[in-house]
Amino acid sequence: MDHLTPALARSWILSTARLIEQNAQHLSDLDAAIGDGDHGANMSRGFQAVAKKLEGDAKADDLGALFKVTGMTLLSTVGGASGPLYGGFFLDLGKQCASRAALDAKDLADVLDSGLADIQRRGKAQPGDKTMVDALAPAIAAMRAAGDDIVTATRAAADAARNAATATAPLLARKGRASYLGERSIGHEDPGANSVALLLDALASATGA
Ligand code: ADP
Ligand code: MG
Repeated sequence: MDHLTPALARSWILSTARLIEQNAQHLSDLDAAIGDGDHGANMSRGFQAVAKKLEGDAKADDLGALFKVTGMTLLSTVGGASGPLYGGFFLDLGKQCASRAALDAKDLADVLDSGLADIQRRGKAQPGDKTMVDALAPAIAAMRAAGDDIVTATRAAADAARNAATATAPLLARKGRASYLGERSIGHEDPGANSVALLLDALASATGA
């Protein structure tokens, strides 16, 4: 397989909603350690709303519309710091994909990179600040390095995101609520980096990896 089609992208989003639901408690537990304990509930509320929209919205059958409805729904339902970041990310994907029928592995990495840039523009986080950026950036790099086969590329991205999320534990938080803890943020994984790992795991599952 060499393209992300609208059907696969839809199954990516729905699979993300399922994975978030299964891991909501874990995400909130991670957030309880260095934040306010709501990341799982925030993400779950958002992606359940997205799933409901997609299951009822026949119009979201091209990539641009699908990502746009995902972004708008996340923006209006997730809340917290992560809502505008995830919402803006998917709105950016929607803009990038407005006239694209499908994405090959390189297009997909380019589109995700643009979404990452949107997250960094809004949130001002740099790599190493202990945020979702720390999982997304290495995942996209791994996707690019893996080459043209989208199954291999998305699996490489998912593995990189998982490892990178784990590797946020020793970092000192410099952005978001966890940064208020200073040194006490050290030793705990970042919740948003973990939700990004789920997002990319769902992408790999959707392409069949
Ligand atoms: P809140 O912190 O408002 O309770 P959430 O708990 O839903 O929001 O999300 C927390 C996650 O959001 C963090 O783990 C981190 O990954 C991400 N985050 C917070 N601030 C930023 C930022 N400025 N840039 C990137 N990611 C951020
Ligand atoms: Mg929180």
